[in-house]
Amino acid sequence: MTTVTFIEGDGIGPEVGAATRRVVDALGVDIDWEECQAGAGAVEAHGNPLPPQVLESIRRNKVALKGPVTTPVGTGFRSVNVALRQELDLFASVRPCKLLPAVPSRFPSLDLVVVRENTEDLYEGIEFEMGSKEIVKLRGHLKYIYGYALARDAGVSVKPISVTATKEIVRFAFDYAKTNRRRKVTLGHKANIMKFSDGLWLDTGLQITESYRDVGFEAVQVDELAMRLASQPDDLDVIVLPNLYGDIISDLCAGLIGGLGFAPGMNFGREHAVFEPTHGSAPDIAGKGLANPIAMILSAELMLRHLNRAGAAERLMRALRRSLEEGRVKTADMRPEGKPSTTEEVADSLIAAIEGDQ
Ligand code: ATP
Repeated sequence: MTTVTFIEGDGIGPEVGAATRRVVDALGVDIDWEECQAGAGAVEAHGNPLPPQVLESIRRNKVALKGPVTTPVGTGFRSVNVALRQELDLFASVRPCKLLPAVPSRFPSLDLVVVRENTEDLYEGIEFEMGSKEIVKLRGHLKYIYGYALARDAGVSVKPISVTATKEIVRFAFDYAKTNRRRKVTLGHKANIMKFSDGLWLDTGLQITESYRDVGFEAVQVDELAMRLASQPDDLDVIVLPNLYGDIISDLCAGLIGGLGFAPGMNFGREHAVFEPTHGSAPDIAGKGLANPIAMILSAELMLRHLNRAGAAERLMRALRRSLEEGRVKTADMRPEGKPSTTEEVADSLIAAIEGDQ
């Protein structure tokens, strides 16, 4: 029996989480869920959106399945998602984007993976607020060192990129490509503009390619990458990006495969793995039965593979593909003609397909 930490999260989290658990349980896998609360609900229950027992549970079990978690604004708490990444050193975010049958898309087939560096870049939170004492000092330094006159009404965010973190994520992307038999790694950057951050990222990435000559490689400016994704995404395979570009491009890729409701995700550290859908808590549709649980179900499928339950993962994918192909699952975000499947009905159809497959 393997124990997995389960965090249902907020907004649509409880709905998509319950649907996912029912589907995974129908596979008959020997997984025991250890339920933990994080996010808005945890603030009410424990006075903290990320209570220590959540981290203890993930540290103990090494694997978590997590729904979207909101950090209540104005409570003085740091983002739960950022805190989880930092506490567990989840340095790699991996978002496979594969088009499923019957899901509307501009492209007939798509199979991309975005690997995003998860710990530094503009997400480090080193910021200077307009009008603060700190920014006055910074303005003085910039004037003194560069003769640069920072506007008095400017705010500043700092973008650190290190050799150490870049080596780690680019190696991770190549290792992922090799293990998963992918043909090419594309590294996105903007080195021509940000020479000392993106330039360092590019140079370090190029050094790493030397050790992976059996996997294809290209370096592409991130603006060109966006254009290629919109016009000929088939040409791309594994894409490795610093934190901010990774965030934006992975949502773009989610759009190419039908939207956030179809986009799973996983975060890896050296010891821990947290599986979660790309989407947020979507408060606009919470509690209405409109949420698409497929992104979270696909995240669970990735978790099953990680836990060496490949047979169960295959059965899950067969059930999902068949249900979509046969039109038994038509989620609201597929914009079907007629009544869409509710979140629970998606789980019902998949469970029926899993049971019919035995
Ligand atoms: P965050 O800032 O946490 O990423 P967000 O508000 O930017 O969250 P999401 O909550 O991810 O964005 O979702 C944006 C919109 O996409 C939602 O308001 C909702 O309409 C739609 N959406 C997201 N996830 C789903 C889903 N699983 N099923 C259906 N629609 C979804």
